[in-house]
Amino acid sequence: MTDNSSADKPVIIIGGGWSGLATACFLAEKNVPVRLIESAKQLGGRARKSTSNTQLLDNGQHLMLGAYSEMLALMKLIGIDENDVFKRKNQHLKLLNGRTLQTVIDLKLPALPAPFNLLSGLLFSKGLTLREKLSVLYRFDKLLKKQLTAAEDRSVEDWLKNAGLPHAYLSLLNALCLAAMNTPAEKASALSFQNVLNETFNGKNGSTDLLIPAVNLGHVLPLPASLYLNKKQASILQPKKVTALVKEHNKATQVITEDQHFHAAAVVLATPPHISRQLLKPFQECNELCHHLEQFRYEPITTVYLRYNESCQIPEDLFGLTATLSEWVFDRRVCEQPGMIAVVISSNGRHMDLDNKALSLIIRNELAVLFPDWPRPAASWVIREKRATFSCTPEINQHRPGVSTAIDNLFLSGDYLVTDGLYLPATLETAIRNAKACAQEVLNYLNQ
Ligand SMILES: Cc1cc2nc3c(=O)[nH]c(=O)nc-3n(C[C@H](O)[C@H](O)[C@H](O)COP(=O)(O)OP(=O)(O)OC[C@H]3O[C@@H](n4cnc5c(N)ncnc54)[C@H](O)[C@@H]3O)c2cc1C
Repeated sequence: MTDNSSADKPVIIIGGGWSGLATACFLAEKNVPVRLIESAKQLGGRARKSTSNTQLLDNGQHLMLGAYSEMLALMKLIGIDENDVFKRKNQHLKLLNGRTLQTVIDLKLPALPAPFNLLSGLLFSKGLTLREKLSVLYRFDKLLKKQLTAAEDRSVEDWLKNAGLPHAYLSLLNALCLAAMNTPAEKASALSFQNVLNETFNGKNGSTDLLIPAVNLGHVLPLPASLYLNKKQASILQPKKVTALVKEHNKATQVITEDQHFHAAAVVLATPPHISRQLLKPFQECNELCHHLEQFRYEPITTVYLRYNESCQIPEDLFGLTATLSEWVFDRRVCEQPGMIAVVISSNGRHMDLDNKALSLIIRNELAVLFPDWPRPAASWVIREKRATFSCTPEINQHRPGVSTAIDNLFLSGDYLVTDGLYLPATLETAIRNAKACAQEVLNYLNQ
């Protein structure tokens, strides 16, 4: 069946993750007719709500930052009040050794403009001597100010090796690298990490703030975005899997799903690199792009949810652990799930060799060392996202495409692209920034 009813052909966006939704909202705001096609039953992609045996969870615990300026701007545009969906709090980075229970570092960054937030935070931090604090202030600033070029990119481990930073601070940076880039310091890109650190620690007032989701991820953006799109008369088709594209005279003219054909004025692939590659492979002019997309490798993220008694509570909303499988511990009380604890484990490691039951048991025992008074959890869930993010290495940075393709009206959106020359890791902010750049390119094309 062919859908050619509309004389005013829409821009078709393939993929209803945060990047596809954001692209659709930016275009709809400019009154461009939009049709979004998503293969899954629900919107949100890798940041969505997930229901397991009637228990409402997220597909993985997420954390956003005050530095996510484009995400916050999009929310404002579509009428989301930040205070309805996030708990904003000053950055508090507490890292404990999960075996010895000693504090590795405890750094609270007050709401002051950079660099005074870090300055004040370091002076009052625990885990460093005064001499070490002064050395961090000088050396960390120097490290961030000497902007790396793409040619100088190397591993984070290599970059930090000779920086002369104290051990406790290196432990914190390694933990932040793994959390922010989902790639361990020995292979993560120093250039991307430097960009993240600069945007966070040298950004606008409030950049270092933590934005902890206070509702399930579906309610943070996917649901409000779909309501906004409905209001703008954009259509959302789901679940509907796109299987192919039709190209005529160097233009993508139709999008084909399992049971329908849709005519398009322009097409946006807001799908991850491996899916975009499948859809682009038939087109010879996209050979080079497909070669770049083939180079992407992926890292998993595992979230272990443990449901304790409602009275069980951690002292802060979240903290980090070293020397354990558990890396970051979140209290889901923030999103009205008292007693639910989420433990996040980034990337690969021993946890990937364990089955879900064995992994939950280890995590439960690690928490029992910290909170000996807690009763056993009544239930647990393990959610493993095998392709949570691309592996953010110096090698892949050389293959990351921009939003345009060799086909005139075919564009890319997603967390893996590079726009404005900034090599950022796969985050919600990157997904939305690239969506904005993509929407601008689509508008330029439509207006030419
Ligand atoms: C467990 C986990 C924890 C994370 N934690 C954080 C965090 O704390 N902070 C942070 O900023 N980021 C985090 N991230 C990363 C963040 O979620 C991603 O960067 C972001 O969601 C990517 O969005 P996207 O739209 O680019 O891609 P996706 O979300 O992958 O969207 C692509 C969409 O395309 C759809 N699709 C695929 N094939 C087709 C097809 N053939 N037809 C139609 N539709 C199709 C998919 O179903 C999907 O909905 C985390 C990711 C995971 C998985």
